[in-house]
Amino acid sequence: MSAAVFRGLFGHDPEGEWAAPGRVNLIGEHTDYNDGFSLPIALEQTVRAWARRRDDGLLRLASTRTPGRVVELDVAALVPGGDEGWAAYPAGVVWALRRAGHAVGGADVLIDSDVPAGAGLSSSAALECAVATAYADLHGLALGPRELALLAQRAENEFVGVPCGVMDQMASMCCRAGSALHLDARDLATRDIPFDPGAAGLVLLVVDTRVHHDLGDGAYAALRTGCERAAALLGLPALRDLAPADLDAALGRLPAELRPLVRHVVTEDERVRQAVDVLEKDPAALGPILTAGHASLRDDYRVSCAETDLVVTTAVAAGALGARMTGGGFGGSVVVLVEQGAAAGVAEAVTAAFAAAGHTAPGIHTATPSRGAHRVR
Ligand code: ADP
Ligand code: MG
Repeated sequence: MSAAVFRGLFGHDPEGEWAAPGRVNLIGEHTDYNDGFSLPIALEQTVRAWARRRDDGLLRLASTRTPGRVVELDVAALVPGGDEGWAAYPAGVVWALRRAGHAVGGADVLIDSDVPAGAGLSSSAALECAVATAYADLHGLALGPRELALLAQRAENEFVGVPCGVMDQMASMCCRAGSALHLDARDLATRDIPFDPGAAGLVLLVVDTRVHHDLGDGAYAALRTGCERAAALLGLPALRDLAPADLDAALGRLPAELRPLVRHVVTEDERVRQAVDVLEKDPAALGPILTAGHASLRDDYRVSCAETDLVVTTAVAAGALGARMTGGGFGGSVVVLVEQGAAAGVAEAVTAAFAAAGHTAPGIHTATPSRGAHRVR
């Protein structure tokens, strides 16, 4: 379908089609920029890129979200901080590749996606990773998924101007079907942890609260800075280096406003360790770890909101094994672990609670651990 749209927009066929998934992070939130651990899965939902190289240095970008419109940029003139809107994400990838010394030129690119944007499921990383994978393939670049993830992160940090960690891009590039990805953000070491909710009689629900966060505002940057200040005051390279056994003593050495941040990061790294322990043997035991993670994000890190809290409380009261907000926070989505027989009841309870509170109806989907970025054809 979209190959035909591509022909209509650009007047020739694409050279190929690439896809990169959105993600749900099971546990390990706000830990990546503290050199810590996380445990995302890739979603079935992907951003797809159809692309064809151009030899005139022009980057022409279109999205099925903005039908009939083409953004035209000169790759040699790309500079961070412009007003390209959504096109800044793919343009940033091309800019990051060129800055890293890869002599890539222009292209025609069409984007289509079923990852909801701004729902905390990382459509931005999926968009970057789809374009990065397409470009690497089209130009025969010898770049592995880690290097592409880092370039995609650099595009978002430096070109778009969002100070995100590396977890979203690593998840979109490196996840495998049937597994969660254990990520060590310090050295980007990864481990596939087999996770098949269906085989264990479980369902992972993703509830989109429809509250759209904006990580571009100062809140995320302020949290990052707070964590970095705390690590510096403790004489540590990063908060990942603070052992749980030393947490209480360390808190006593910090100003009051930094203590909850540090408590969240250290206990969250520990919850990732616990989650890896239970995931293969007894995945239902992940439930309480999720709920504890949510309490920490709500009470210590303070990045939840009324809607995400309502989903978690309602889901757990209706019989879910556990639930937590996922992604940066201030809205977005909630991941719920529930036994198969209880899933419909939990979904109904959440929908009813939203209606009673006067909130927009939530979007509720089942998540299946899926594969990372790849060429489709
Ligand atoms: P999230 O990554 O959680 O979905 P972000 O705010 O980081 O939220 O990224 C969302 C932005 O990514 C959108 O505002 C838009 O600029 C861009 N984007 C995502 N999907 C598409 C798409 N299909 N077409 C064009 N732009 C998209
Ligand atoms: Mg994003």
